[in-house]
Amino acid sequence: MTKKVAVIGAGVAGLASAIRLQHEGYEVELFEKEAIPGGKMNRIEKDGYTFDLGPSLVMMPEIYKEVFELAGRDPDDYIPMTRLDPMYSAFFGPDEKDRYDVSSDLVTLIASLENLSDEDAKGFLSYLQDIYGRFIVAKDHFLQRPFRSALDFYNPFMIKQALKLKTFDTASHSIGKFVKDKRMQQMLSFQTLYIGVSPNNGPSLYSIIPMIEFLYGVWFIKGGMYTMAKSMERLFLELGGKVNYNTPVERILIQDKKAYGIQLQNKKVLTDFVLCNADFPYAIKNLVQDKAAKGKYTDKKIDSMKYSCSCFILYLGMDRKYDQVEQLHNFVFTEDLDKNLEDIFDGKLLDKPSYYLYMASKMDQSMAPEGKEGLYLLVPVSDLSTADYEWNEETVQYYRSQVLNSLKTLKGFENVENEIVSETYMTPLDFEEKFNAYNGACFGLRPNLLQSNHFRPQAKAKNCENLYFAGSSTHPGAGVPIVLLSAKIAVEELLLDDRGVKA
Ligand SMILES: Cc1cc2nc3c(=O)[nH]c(=O)nc-3n(C[C@H](O)[C@H](O)[C@H](O)COP(=O)(O)OP(=O)(O)OC[C@H]3O[C@@H](n4cnc5c(N)ncnc54)[C@H](O)[C@@H]3O)c2cc1C
Repeated sequence: MTKKVAVIGAGVAGLASAIRLQHEGYEVELFEKEAIPGGKMNRIEKDGYTFDLGPSLVMMPEIYKEVFELAGRDPDDYIPMTRLDPMYSAFFGPDEKDRYDVSSDLVTLIASLENLSDEDAKGFLSYLQDIYGRFIVAKDHFLQRPFRSALDFYNPFMIKQALKLKTFDTASHSIGKFVKDKRMQQMLSFQTLYIGVSPNNGPSLYSIIPMIEFLYGVWFIKGGMYTMAKSMERLFLELGGKVNYNTPVERILIQDKKAYGIQLQNKKVLTDFVLCNADFPYAIKNLVQDKAAKGKYTDKKIDSMKYSCSCFILYLGMDRKYDQVEQLHNFVFTEDLDKNLEDIFDGKLLDKPSYYLYMASKMDQSMAPEGKEGLYLLVPVSDLSTADYEWNEETVQYYRSQVLNSLKTLKGFENVENEIVSETYMTPLDFEEKFNAYNGACFGLRPNLLQSNHFRPQAKAKNCENLYFAGSSTHPGAGVPIVLLSAKIAVEELLLDDRGVKA
């Protein structure tokens, strides 16, 4: 008889797991509390403007495509992509000389680095060589495998590999060994914020993120990132899967340390396996109510863990286009970036924060009315457990004016406040309420050393059979391609238990 799997959450990892399992011949049913798929890869539609709610930068496109290829589909039919060059602009001030258009074309890039200094151009190439070697180790031995037991890590071979990763240094310090120009150092390390950790504290291994940008490019999916979520939903339905929206799961049914289904508001659904994509800390606290099945993840432990940063995002519909800033992705750095980063992770209200400006309508005019632009303005802020201030209307207005005051200094945006015709926003509280992101942390558990690899929650529940987890707070971590890998690992773990198949 076909075995049944309940997947909790239609986030990226939930959708990818559901596709993989349905493709393997299981009868899969997805249960999502929200009305549409994607989780944080969601969409906001307002007054004729369409915004990606969360993720926007497509990196490692091969991993996105794999989900479609495994089911024999041509990814171009689902997620047509264009490579961006330049990948983005970095602004260190309003003047033209303070703006850097960052290319992933090595010929163009080297020319612009040589403008800084030959020494730094050489340093950049040495950085690439060093980090690429570490990336290969991470890819082959850490990112694509589970750690079921302590021995999976604590053995001579793995310890040797772990040492090769050289994770004890911070990203900023490690980059500083290769390049001397302060701005270039910042451009090669701020990307750790993509996974919610500071470059000044996060393990140096995370400087693989800019390396991935330089070597594999940054891409845009037609229709924005949400096309990926919608296309995964489409593929899952084509394969015969079932999706239930507006259906919050209240509890994972567990008896004798074995999961046997889920409890909805008004009914039980009995299944052979449960795969949970809801954020791990939230899920283990609220959905796993059986004490023995929680194992070491007691409520106290969950609250003592460290969380990634959160985000405040403004989504603005504008009544014109902004041609003076050409790129889709733009990073605007504050003068004292180190202080800004320190304040985010110390819980302070930020003064003159750095922010990210994304204008999808530059690539796809269908995302805004003809001749107009949609602005997505993201400020990295503290998660709710770290913030020493409340999120209320006053805080929203404070950050709104901080961002707009800075944006006004960029060419073309001088009158930006008067050009807004539609407006909405997301705060850390919204991330918590809408997606059950614990502490509103946008990237789940913080990927510091003690919460990475074998220390991070794993795909297979340690103290409960037939229960698996996938998503940002589990190994290997956050970011769309990385949670796609977590889905792959979770499904492989389930297959190993059920069929004895080792991938
Ligand atoms: C603002 C922002 C910007 C980002 N930018 C990028 C980027 O540019 N590039 C990139 O690669 N990554 C980016 N990320 C990270 C990336 O979006 C996430 O790592 C990834 O989308 C998380 O996917 P997930 O599978 O962990 O699930 P989530 O998105 O957390 O989904 C979990 C799902 O479970 C559902 N759920 C929770 N509880 C229940 C319940 N009880 N019952 C039913 N359903 C439930 C939720 O509603 C949600 O749909 C960004 C994230 C944010 C927030």
